[in-house]
Formats: sequence, structure tokens, C-alpha cells
Amino acid sequence: MIIGSHVSFGKEGLLGSVKEAISYGANTFMFYTGAPQNTLRKPIDMKNTEEAWNLMKENNIDINTVICHAPYIVNLANNLDERKYNFSINFLAQEIKRCEEMKVKYIVLHPGSSVGIERNIALDNIAFALNEILKKDNSVQILLETMAGKGTEIGCTLEEIKYLIDHIDKKELIGVCLDTCHLNDAGYNMTEFDEFLKKFDEQIGLNYIKCVHVNDSKNELGTHKDRHANIGYGTLGFDIILNIINHPKLMNIPKILETPYIGETDDDKARIYPPYKFEIEMIRNGQFNSNMMNDIREFYHK
Ligand code: FE
Ligand code: FE
Ligand code: ZN
Repeated sequence: MIIGSHVSFGKEGLLGSVKEAISYGANTFMFYTGAPQNTLRKPIDMKNTEEAWNLMKENNIDINTVICHAPYIVNLANNLDERKYNFSINFLAQEIKRCEEMKVKYIVLHPGSSVGIERNIALDNIAFALNEILKKDNSVQILLETMAGKGTEIGCTLEEIKYLIDHIDKKELIGVCLDTCHLNDAGYNMTEFDEFLKKFDEQIGLNYIKCVHVNDSKNELGTHKDRHANIGYGTLGFDIILNIINHPKLMNIPKILETPYIGETDDDKARIYPPYKFEIEMIRNGQFNSNMMNDIREFYHK
């Protein structure tokens, strides 16, 4: 099982991410190369990066399974503001360069939001932008994330994901990241996961799946909300998620948790404690822990 969570990329860059992942008992991780909401980026510190590679080796974390996530503000779907559109293209190209420097193979991307233009035009904008970015000589694969369909998000149906892949020139540099919360919210029933995979295989091909975001959902099927819940504490439930994680067809695919931090009490708005160590433990044990919230508070509370 290759499992980890989203981790931060702090002062120490990749080294900080690796240390955080190890503290959760993870054997992979996903990071942003800076704050996900902005595009302020520092140059990569190679000394820290080399230390990170060594620490990964010592802890059986394979760099080939590590995932980067592009910032949310990159929007390749809308080109009404040409300056913004070009900025998104250039920024993603730069992020890919940074991934290459760190020997990271995959970058997950939200395809974008159409905001005010027709969806089919938005899809063509995304495909055009991706082809521009992939023209440059590089080895990093862009993984299109399946979206919940909140607002005007593109990529919330398999048809749209297929359309994008069909229009990419360098198919070897494109892949898909499934997100279980987003799929549920988009209307794909995760209780019938075999059927979903069959459909995915027929339409797109299972070989395109390179990452799975493992999240429970706060909302019912097809609500287009995109609010993640802790594993076993949402509408999907522990068994459905465990079945996806252990699915033989997704065996060697990295599974990444992006579940919410928890507060000191159930209605505490200040979400301060990471749940990942405990969720990973629960998943490895194959046994739901109904006391997880309290275990987390006890562990981290000073
Ligand atoms: Fe995402
Ligand atoms: Fe996700
Ligand atoms: Zn989400």
C-alpha cells in the first residue's frame, strides 16, 4: 500500500515535507511548492532537496510516487483576460521545472473553471494551454484531477476528462488523479466502484490513473459541493473507502489523504490537529476507529 497525505512545503522545502510525511507513518506524500492560494515561490534549495532525497531513501519513500499539486489559482480554462491566461500557462510551466529539479514525476492540476464562457470553449482553452506547456522538453506528467463540479469547474465528468486527454499531443505526459470526494459530489457512486472503474477503463483507460485522492465527503451523491470529510466520518464511510484503497486494479497507485484537520472540540472552528497519522493507521489496520477524534486530540494536545 502506497499511502500518504498532503503535507506542507515550509522553510525547509521538500525536506520539511518528507519529515512531516514520516511523522504520519506515510510512505509517500503530496505537497505544494508554496502556498496553494498564491504564486509566490522561492528558488529551490538544492542542499535541503538532497537531504530530502536521502531521508526518503532511508525511510522507503520512493520519489517516483511523490506528488506535487499545482496552486488553485492557476486557471487554464478561461482566456477572457489574456494576461491572466498567459500567466497561468507560464506559472504552471515554472512549477513543472521546479518539480524536475526535485526529481518529482507528477503534478496534479485542477483543469480550471469556465467562469463566463461556454464549457466547450473552456475545454479547448485547457487543451491548448496544456499542449503549450508540454511542448517544452520535460519528464513531469500532469495529472488532471476529477472535480466535484462546484461553480463552473471543468473536469467533473469522465467525458470532459476524456475530451482533454484526446486533445493532448504528448499523451505520455498526461494522466488522471481520481478524488473520491469529488467523484461522489460529481454524481459517481463510489459504492459501485467496480462499475465506475469499468466505465473509466472503457472511456479513458485505467493506465491513465496515476494518483488517488482519498477523501470522505460531507455531502450526498451529486451535490457538487466539494467538502472533504475525515475517513469514515462522511457519507462514503470507511468500508467504501478501504475498498477503493485496496482495489487490486489500483494496487501500485499512490493514495493521498486530503482530509480536514480537526479542532480541540467537535465544533471548534480552529482546525489545528492533522488527522493523517491516525487515518493512515486505521487504513493499514483495516479497522474503523470511532474514537479517532479523541485519539488525535490526546496525541497532539500539549
Ligand atoms: Fe486538488
Ligand atoms: Fe483532491
Ligand atoms: Zn476537493
